Amino acid sequence: MDIQAELISIGNELLSGRTLNTHGRDLGAALSAIGLHLVRDTTVPDETATIEAATADALARVDIVFVSGGLGPTVDDITRDALARLLDRRIVTHQPTLDHLGAWYARRGRTITPAGARQALVLEGAVVLSNSVGAAPGERIDLPLGKTLFVLPGPPNEFNAVLGEEIIPWLKTRHAGVRPKLVRIVQTRGIGESDIVTRLEAAGFQPEGIALGFYPGMGRVEIRLTASAEQEAEIAQAEECLLDLLGDHLDTTG
Ligand code: AMP
Ligand code: MG
Repeated sequence: MDIQAELISIGNELLSGRTLNTHGRDLGAALSAIGLHLVRDTTVPDETATIEAATADALARVDIVFVSGGLGPTVDDITRDALARLLDRRIVTHQPTLDHLGAWYARRGRTITPAGARQALVLEGAVVLSNSVGAAPGERIDLPLGKTLFVLPGPPNEFNAVLGEEIIPWLKTRHAGVRPKLVRIVQTRGIGESDIVTRLEAAGFQPEGIALGFYPGMGRVEIRLTASAEQEAEIAQAEECLLDLLGDHLDTTG
């Protein structure tokens, strides 16, 4: 079973080159580890109509959509409004989050500001996902046809906290029968991609049902074999064959 997810990263700074978008990498790794597949990572600016359209497109394609960023208290934080329009839902205050934020301010001898309180706003009907390292919580919105929309805060430590503590355990339970893909990695040194491919083609190396990926860099080429969980014997055989064919150029230094 191939369960596919998409990510929509929101923020002008991600497009202008000011901030490196790390959410795709982190989400891709977390989903692969439980056998789910991140199949697209779209980055869009802080514009309501663009966020709305990108989310609608993703929901039309896959079952699980993650939207990140734009949940804070500032004028460029418009994700909630865009999603409220798209899903035709109201935005409501989540009282436990407001109480939690109020207590945070009280401990510092302050009362919560209206801007601070905006971080307790969620889409009506959302399941609120606690954020153990920041103010704005995440949200899970269950949609028709078994589709799920997750909304996550932008700061990478908060994104990863909500993902790791709330979302991955939930997805693991929901997709308990899904097993992660098998991956084997062969590292080479001192041989270019085209020479590798020439050798593999000459030997007719085309293992069935196994995906091959070539990742060159700094005098090395990493070759990745990926197969389904049931193909243990096939991937082992393909790896052995590759090790034989490239035996004089293997890099075992890690
Ligand atoms: P926001 O939630 O849009 O207010 O963003 C809060 C902080 O998280 C800002 O410093 C953003 O630049 C950062 N941020 C948002 N999205 C990402 C992302 N995809 N990768 C890395 N940093 C991000
Ligand atoms: Mg932003």
